[in-house]
Amino acid sequence: MEQIYHVGNCPVCRSYGRMEIIYNFPSGKCSVICEECELEFDTVSDYINNRNGHRIFLKSGEKAIARTAFPKEIKNSEWYGLVTEKF
Ligand SMILES: [Zn+2]
Repeated sequence: MEQIYHVGNCPVCRSYGRMEIIYNFPSGKCSVICEECELEFDTVSDYINNRNGHRIFLKSGEKAIARTAFPKEIKNSEWYGLVTEKF
């Protein structure tokens, strides 16, 4: 089973929604998205300051443009220091 890594809780959902690290195409960058409300932050700074949060809505027929990030990708990203579960 695929391991999902989190960096903490959602600033909107608080204790209900954890922020999951995802890997985006085609940028190749990791971001975090709330597993409850799908609020997404592109950078650590935005997440910490609860700034520039946004949501992605796919149009009918569009494919997902992100997937769960792999440990190697997280290690190479600025999110690594915030991960709450060990690799
Ligand atoms: Zn949320």
